[in-house]
Amino acid sequence: TEPLLQVTDLTVEIRHASGNWRILDRVSLSVRAGETLALLGESGCGKTMAALALVRLLAAPVQITAGRIQLAGRDLVSLPESAMRRVRGGEIAMIFQEPQSALNPVMPIGRQIAEAVRLHAGQMASRDPMQRVVELLTEVGIPDPARRVDDYPHQLSGGMKQRVMIAMALAGRPKLLIADEPTTALDVTIQAQILALLKDLQQRTGMAILLITHDLGVVAQTADRLAVMYAGQIVETAPSGAFFAGPAHPYSLKLMLSRPTLARRGRALAVIPGRVPPLGHAHRGCRFAERCDRAHAACHQREPDWHPLNDAHRVRCHLWAAGQLAAAPPEAAAP
Ligand code: SF4
Repeated sequence: TEPLLQVTDLTVEIRHASGNWRILDRVSLSVRAGETLALLGESGCGKTMAALALVRLLAAPVQITAGRIQLAGRDLVSLPESAMRRVRGGEIAMIFQEPQSALNPVMPIGRQIAEAVRLHAGQMASRDPMQRVVELLTEVGIPDPARRVDDYPHQLSGGMKQRVMIAMALAGRPKLLIADEPTTALDVTIQAQILALLKDLQQRTGMAILLITHDLGVVAQTADRLAVMYAGQIVETAPSGAFFAGPAHPYSLKLMLSRPTLARRGRALAVIPGRVPPLGHAHRGCRFAERCDRAHAACHQREPDWHPLNDAHRVRCHLWAAGQLAAAPPEAAAP
């Protein structure tokens, strides 16, 4: 089947008197209906910038300078802003890490969801929006929804607020949900419940999910496939199973090793030395070279190409140029 979302060579730059700073470099990814793609990386690597670019919420002087974003075959980059506004919150909905900041603190949640319903009602406009609000609150697992519609955001827990945000996102019956660190602010139990809710809603509605996260645990729980991002570029894409069995990019391997696991609990957490280069930094060679313990001469001179391991798994690293196996399985490489 054709992907619902197909992003090809998306490039975002900051226009600047002394030349452009490139902050997203030829980002390509795809998500199919009913599928969850995780965009994984440390903070500052460009994940949120990519999400904002997808829905064209970049503010000048940051702008898309090349590439295509196709949603169900339609190019969003060239869409007039008025049509893009209908796509946002309609075909594409977003939820964020901090539901608090997206909710109006002085308006009952029922009215806030009703506004979202009204905005995207279309042919359903004649129905009482409050009836739909109660349905939506039920769908996202809020108990006793008819009585909760008059609650204000401060009366709800963090997990309940995120459920309200998800209800608002569902109001437009999205084909694609972009979830930017949706559970990072929540404790582990609530996090698991919200991820399970998203999965359940996906199964019922068939929506695609682009999940932006720095947390491999979240990827393991939810993603069908993932794309690893580093310094404004995607460096590896793989099905989750293949990735967890053998990450191919040295950066992915380091992310894997820095993840707290049961086996390593109590031992010092491996951290990746060094920092993500600032977005917009001019690069020569591989962007990860400063932090990579497999770096060799070519890495500092030439940018690595994409190398396929198979149809579904690709990596951007010189070590794979000859199809050579670069990455030992994580446990074998554990310190
Ligand atoms: Fe490391 Fe070189 Fe591969 Fe970059 S291209 S990740 S520096 S081995």
